[in-house]
Amino acid sequence: MPTRRPVTVTVTGAGGQIGYALLFRIASGQLLGPDTPVRLNLLEIPLGLRAAEGTALELIDGAFPLLDSVDVTDSARTAFDGAGVALLVGARPRTAGMERADLLEANAAIFGPQGRAINEHAASDVRVLVVGNPANTNALIASSHAPDVPAERFTAMTRLDHNRAVAQLAIKAEVPVTAVDGVIVWGNHSATQYPDVSHATVDGRPAREIVDERWLEEVFVPTVARRGAEIIQVRGASSAASAANAAIDHVYDWVNGTGDRFTSAGVTTGGVNAEAAASYGLPDGLICSLPVRSSRGEWQIVTGLDADPVAHAHIEASVAELLDEREAVRALGHLPG
Ligand code: NDP
Repeated sequence: MPTRRPVTVTVTGAGGQIGYALLFRIASGQLLGPDTPVRLNLLEIPLGLRAAEGTALELIDGAFPLLDSVDVTDSARTAFDGAGVALLVGARPRTAGMERADLLEANAAIFGPQGRAINEHAASDVRVLVVGNPANTNALIASSHAPDVPAERFTAMTRLDHNRAVAQLAIKAEVPVTAVDGVIVWGNHSATQYPDVSHATVDGRPAREIVDERWLEEVFVPTVARRGAEIIQVRGASSAASAANAAIDHVYDWVNGTGDRFTSAGVTTGGVNAEAAASYGLPDGLICSLPVRSSRGEWQIVTGLDADPVAHAHIEASVAELLDEREAVRALGHLPG
């Protein structure tokens, strides 16, 4: 029997393929745990409304004991009303001939207003995960339009990259994934991300004693960074279920805690995180993937995990890309300051 009050979970782009892989797992209790009923608010653009309505019918047909309600709307104000968790999945994809500035502009027009709607209508303890790309910068835009919501409540998903890295290391070391700990994904959720095993262990042994540098540089890093493209090539469609799975992992860990293990998430480098982020030489005011633990419902950056020179160069390049995206969005007038 559910023992808690229902939590409103808002999912944007709910009619899309990640939405389809995500919503049934939320309704079954895998996002917030078996004691918490959920009210699902599905946000779509007018073109996506029918698909979302169809998914809502199937959600009803699931007769999920934890599903308190499911509503579909194209109004951000309605969708974010009372939201305790907001999963921002819908985003404008890059289309042929689109320049980076056009992509950033199109997404700023989505994530700015959604940030404002979260600021005005969501629950005071709302937790936001941005999945839609470019996820880090979209999260920054949304956060900057929600001045009353602490910046640490806006996060970007790099958990899929993290999970991919853990899985590749486990396959190479011929161990179950549970034997792997301490993998870090640094930087932007893009090709410049850096999956780092310098602090990883396999069954308690340093990973670097088990795998060699050449495999790391030539196989591991490119496999993780290009996995999305590989899946499109093999499956004929982009990864959706694994992205949905990572979103579930991110929020579940955020809410329920990670214990001593750590994971990776795109979190703010400012506010309560400023000191920890600065210990890695990171500038204030980005959403950057970092090693994090969660306890009592808050992410904390894990400090003291110094990067070696190779990792350092990769991290700098990814952070430079984040700074570039931020400047481009600022130049377009979508960031205050
Ligand atoms: P998906 O559900 O497959 O993807 C949604 C977003 O998640 C994209 O930005 C995609 O980025 C991103 N993403 C992040 N990680 C991954 C990953 N590992 N694999 C794939 N995607 C990933 O897209 P659909 O087109 O099926 O659905 C999107 C829905 O959003 C549509 O129903 C559409 O109507 C809606 N939409 C809403 C908008 C809004 O809220 N205003 C604007 C545009 C669309 P990438 O593009 O880089 O793959």
